[in-house]
Amino acid sequence: MNPLETPVEYLKGVGPAKGELLKKELNIKVFGDLLLYYPFRYIDKSKVYLIRDIDSDIAYIQLKGRLLNLTELGTGSAKRLTGLLEDASGKIELVWFQGINWWKEKLKIGENYVVFGKPNLFNGKYNITHPDMDTVEEDLLYNEPLQPYYPTTEKLKQKGLSGKTFGKIVRNALLQTYNHIQENLSASIIEENKFLSRPDTLVNIHFPKSTALLEKARQRLKFEELFFIQLELFRIKYIRNEKSVGRVFDKIGSNFMTFYESYLPFELTNAQKKVIKEIRKDLATGKQMNRLLQGDVGSGKTLVALMSILIAIDNNCQACIMAPTEILATQHYRNIEKFLKDMPVNVMLLTGSTKKKEREVIHAGLKNGELNILIGTHALIEEGVVFKNLGLVVIDEQHRFGVEQRARLWAKSEISPHILVMTATPIPRTLAMTVYGDLEVSVIDELPPGRKPIKTVHFFERDRLKVFKFMKDQISEGRQIYVVYPIINESNKLDLKDLMDGFDTISRYFPLPEYQISIVHGQLKAAEKESEMKRFLEKKTQIMVATTVIEVGVDVPNATVMIIENAERFGLSQLHQLRGRVGRGGSQSYCILMTSYKLTADGKKRIETMVKSTDGFEIAEMDLRLRGPGDIQGTQQSGLIGLRMADIVRDEDVLKRARATAANLLKTDPELTQHENQMMVKFLQTQNKQWGQIS
Ligand code: ADP
Ligand code: MG
Repeated sequence: MNPLETPVEYLKGVGPAKGELLKKELNIKVFGDLLLYYPFRYIDKSKVYLIRDIDSDIAYIQLKGRLLNLTELGTGSAKRLTGLLEDASGKIELVWFQGINWWKEKLKIGENYVVFGKPNLFNGKYNITHPDMDTVEEDLLYNEPLQPYYPTTEKLKQKGLSGKTFGKIVRNALLQTYNHIQENLSASIIEENKFLSRPDTLVNIHFPKSTALLEKARQRLKFEELFFIQLELFRIKYIRNEKSVGRVFDKIGSNFMTFYESYLPFELTNAQKKVIKEIRKDLATGKQMNRLLQGDVGSGKTLVALMSILIAIDNNCQACIMAPTEILATQHYRNIEKFLKDMPVNVMLLTGSTKKKEREVIHAGLKNGELNILIGTHALIEEGVVFKNLGLVVIDEQHRFGVEQRARLWAKSEISPHILVMTATPIPRTLAMTVYGDLEVSVIDELPPGRKPIKTVHFFERDRLKVFKFMKDQISEGRQIYVVYPIINESNKLDLKDLMDGFDTISRYFPLPEYQISIVHGQLKAAEKESEMKRFLEKKTQIMVATTVIEVGVDVPNATVMIIENAERFGLSQLHQLRGRVGRGGSQSYCILMTSYKLTADGKKRIETMVKSTDGFEIAEMDLRLRGPGDIQGTQQSGLIGLRMADIVRDEDVLKRARATAANLLKTDPELTQHENQMMVKFLQTQNKQWGQIS
């Protein structure tokens, strides 16, 4: 049997009990898993701190000293074990809250220990909670110049696998498997990048012979991780390109030209022109288009979609636009109808509330081809909606639609329609390369001229009256205002308390009949929501108090103020999305971020970023830095969660190199059939199996 696949309990130093725990707590099942369980720091054994010199609680440090005493204190959850450690320079307290009995058993008063941990400043004094404690003899057993230190758990520590002793079983695993570790990069890629071999990479990531070799090992592991994701994405794209047949829209006909020359009410921005060109090119290739269109709110994506649709119609095809909510679908419908009112193009709207009679008209029009454009919600993917000749599908706000639902739209046509996905949630470049690496990406990075940048300010509760005064001024100038509350769970009545309290306060300061206020939240019925929105849209109300249900897409150009309550509770991209609800008309717009006095470091950074920047990409970049990729849409499917070494933000240069290498490889060996590339194919296959298990 390949030792890499031997169950971990058979490894020297493990056994059934630890084996079970390793599986349960760290998902380490076989010897090979241990090799991929990397240390999270390295202790420079030559550095021993003196207790007197401890002056910050930032870094992990190593101490050597004698244990003077050991005392059990407190009861219940405050129960703890404390010990006093002394070296030539002073004394420091050590504290354990867990595994007290185990530590009492292990530690001997009067004995000398090598101690490793992170100092905390507590009541003006430093202590160390849950340090690693090894006797001097134990410490000698694994005396590396740079000693690996592993993430571990309390239960494993109590079984003798501390951050430090963990290295012992990893060493055993390496000894057993070294000769079986397979290379996973071709000789030419290794050569070109001057990488260590794979076995030596793994040796040096665990037991580095020097900091230089550690760095080399890191570089290779980062590259590997990013390279195989890119290779997989390129292969998906390649296969789709080879297999897919798309309609050829090579005609630019009278609809497109008439619209462009006679009805387009403004000049296209350069960014819009560029993107339309990209789409036109795609549509003419005979392959199915799969394109993601990114652009900040208000950058004019809808117009680009409409012009693409006109190309489809000029080539005798139908098109549809699918939006995530009825409000949005209706808005698209109104806009597009207005744009096309003097043109021989039929547009209809299909949503959950479309009446049966009208539905029948729509179904008939779709079947006989007289209906050119259908705009709607999920209703578009219902049975009974059958197109004669569906050529282009536009999906607005992509994250609300699952892959599955999109697939059902494809099925509506024997030749897959072209797909254009529009999103106003900018995705940082590095992430887009990874998550959407299989889609073509177009970016509109320019707003139509004449827009005034939104002014964003940060206020605390003490500024409340000032804010109310400002609201009154804006209303007296005929403007409208949003006030948004964070609601964690829209279906939980208790969660609505903040919103309801806020509504009461606002109602007192803005009394009837002079002021009218709309309120929208998840507990309202769809019809109520619609009617409240409508009152606001028709300027019958001046203030809209709402939860984030209004986040996506509502378009009320007369609304110029967005007030976000408890703004610190929102993520950056959500704040940006909300802010995008104003600034849609020609007047100066404002975004007011209200927060409590207490802000976390992250919260502060988010607010500062919003005040400083209106650039969606810059904000998305910061969001990624603050949150990591795990929380960001789409990362689950992409293998990104499998990243152990690479950091999608910090390792942009490695990502670029990995991507270029993957592209190059497929250029010379598109099917990966060459002998020298087989090890990469094999590795990709095992990795895909693992990703499959994760998701
Ligand atoms: P998005 O869908 O990207 O949020 P829209 O397509 O809804 O943006 O455009 C926002 C507003 O800007 C609309 O009122 C639209 O008519 C207008 N608009 C779009 N392109 C231009 C342009 N090139 N010049 C002026 N106004 C434009
Ligand atoms: Mg839009």
